[in-house]
Amino acid sequence: MSPVSRRLLARVRDVMAGAGTAQQQLDEIVLIIAADMVAEVCSVYVMRAGEVLELFGTKGLNASAVHNTRLRVGEGLIGLIAAQSRPFALADAQAHPDFVFRPETGEELYQSLMGVPILRGGRVVGVIAVQNRVRRNYTEEEVEILQTVAMVLAELVGGGDLISRDELMPADGNALLPLRLEGITLNPGLGVGVAVLHEPQFHISQMVAEDVDYEHERLRNAVSEMHGALDDMMEHSDLAGAGEHREILESYRMIAEDAGWFGRIDEAISSGLTAEAAVQKVHNDIRARMNQITDPYLRERVHDLEDLGTRLLQHLVGANGRNGAMPDDETVKNADCVILIARNMGPAQLLDYDRSKLGGLVLEEGSATAHVSIVARALDIPVVGQARGVLDMIETGEPVIVDGTNAQVFVRPGEEVRQRFKNSARVRAERKASYAQLRDLESVTRDGVRINLNINAGLLIDLPHLHDMGADGVGLYRTEVPFMVRSDFPGVDDQRNIYAKVYEQTDGKPVVFRTLDVGGDKILPYWDAQDEENPAMGWRAIRISFDRPMLLRQQLRALIQAACGRDLSVMFPMIAEVPEFDQARALLDLELKREKEHGSAMPSSISAGVMLEVPSLLFQLPALLSRVDFISVGSNDLYQFLFAADRGNSRLSERYDMLSPPVMSLLQDVVNRCNEAQVPLSLCGEMAASPLDAMALIGIGFRNISMQPNAIGPVKAMIRSMEVGPLSQYMDSLSNLSQHSLRGNLRAFAMDHGITV
Ligand code: PEP
Ligand code: MG
Repeated sequence: MSPVSRRLLARVRDVMAGAGTAQQQLDEIVLIIAADMVAEVCSVYVMRAGEVLELFGTKGLNASAVHNTRLRVGEGLIGLIAAQSRPFALADAQAHPDFVFRPETGEELYQSLMGVPILRGGRVVGVIAVQNRVRRNYTEEEVEILQTVAMVLAELVGGGDLISRDELMPADGNALLPLRLEGITLNPGLGVGVAVLHEPQFHISQMVAEDVDYEHERLRNAVSEMHGALDDMMEHSDLAGAGEHREILESYRMIAEDAGWFGRIDEAISSGLTAEAAVQKVHNDIRARMNQITDPYLRERVHDLEDLGTRLLQHLVGANGRNGAMPDDETVKNADCVILIARNMGPAQLLDYDRSKLGGLVLEEGSATAHVSIVARALDIPVVGQARGVLDMIETGEPVIVDGTNAQVFVRPGEEVRQRFKNSARVRAERKASYAQLRDLESVTRDGVRINLNINAGLLIDLPHLHDMGADGVGLYRTEVPFMVRSDFPGVDDQRNIYAKVYEQTDGKPVVFRTLDVGGDKILPYWDAQDEENPAMGWRAIRISFDRPMLLRQQLRALIQAACGRDLSVMFPMIAEVPEFDQARALLDLELKREKEHGSAMPSSISAGVMLEVPSLLFQLPALLSRVDFISVGSNDLYQFLFAADRGNSRLSERYDMLSPPVMSLLQDVVNRCNEAQVPLSLCGEMAASPLDAMALIGIGFRNISMQPNAIGPVKAMIRSMEVGPLSQYMDSLSNLSQHSLRGNLRAFAMDHGITV
């Protein structure tokens, strides 16, 4: 960057290092910035308690407005910059819909505005803005310069001299009272322990470079140290074996080599920052951009980059500059069980902690497909995500409970609550042990009806559960999941290796491979995602496969090769009409023929089926049944399409019920027709995991269901306590009721008949 910004930075630094109160320094700095950036106005707003931005210093606006003009976050352009945590450069600011006019400032004179957030530790602590009287198109370089200055100013604004540091902490709730927070389940389970805030903050004492070449060299050294340390960690982590978590770490390691990222840090050094300040700046930019990225997979990449930024800072600043809780802190050393609290985390950061002490993880952000969630699942650590504001409500060392199963977090729980949870944890452990005892017992009802219990899987780490739980097979292997954790499209060889491992690990038990179901909410990071108004009903699953037939053909080829002498069951998702099945089947036949011609070892048997998840298929059953080898009801999608209720919208999740009389009658009809046609039928949506719903499905004739692995125990216990005969009769009698749901009736029936739901 230009020497202009370097000169500006040096002057700002000199003021900050010089005499005078923080307020006097700020007053001087706004003058310097305004002059340097050729702006009539330069103002600094500081975030005060209650999310209010107060004008603290200005050159150009009325001096009487200082400490009087206050804007809420989100109010006016300044409030918007803080709310969205990103820069704005507006040639005609007054035309912007968010512009609010504050007469006391006299800003009606100024047409253009450029403002950037002042960020400290990832939080907005203020806003700095320049304004010009005439229309001015600020350049990207000018925005960059202001951001760099904001970075240096963050020390002054957030350092505790301008306003008390306490005030910079959003005051949510009374710090001493117990709190209960809700989030989303990222991994079930219960953890009771002490909180450790994973909020690595580094004190960067020198922001402005004395010797730019030296700073470039420091960066290079730190990067190579970091690479060495990462290699070391990967080699020695608990997860060193094969599997997707390994690939996650590898893709993370690849990001660590990303030239673009280093290029940006180098550039920031060239603009006059020290190496650590440059890393911090790129870090801030990434966070700011983060708010605008809605694609969850891209967001994941960004988290990985953030994680790496922190790591790099560790190497640059060393342990002395660190003032946040890190893995070797005293609290971690002294605690038996640590619950990590973080805004978000990369997968490697989780592995930095001592596994034997990790009792849970609470994230302010986070999603089920986040890499850290996948790794946490592999380590069996309960995780609650989207616990908004949690970092501001808890301190390291305070007691905390993570109830991953019910998506709640208890901060500073009282003794009674802690006791209850300890009891509950004990009961859970006992119940788990009792399910383990069921492992080798038959899944058969009291009146002798055998029910096939299968697991749904998507990662290799799910597969050991097949044997631990004593399940019959894999009823749904979601092939898109391994695609989602990679940084690139896996080719035929890669895919064949994955599927071959699935075969190895299922060890002779049947497995149904579902072809790629991407699109909708399952976006691949390397896939050119389209903006769609209704992605669940959009270009997804088999629809993509038909438009990009090589995708499906390569996948089928890999499956055929992996099966090699074993049974191959392929299931096509989102089939909406019979000709689509024919088309998919034709591609399978084409690949079978090709492999045969190549002399490959062929599967010992082939079966091709469909997911029944689009309602239109319900009206084509006779034609469908004459073609398919099996059907599996995808109740998750079927629910959303039958009731026109987005399956991912928590406001709707309990509005309608699959256990309603019409849906039960409809499923009963599917069972009857499949029985007549002798086509095997199963159900692999979430409802199979609930013992009561599973009981209802068995009551109407399902004999094969597939569910998440940890539901096998409770469902098997239910099966072993029920009789099919009386239940079927009872359900027949309910079929004509016109009520919202049969759930109440069925629960009462279960209680009366001693069925453990
Ligand atoms: C379903 O839709 O019920 C299903 C099992 O598939 P997925 O959840 O992967 O869409
Ligand atoms: Mg589905």
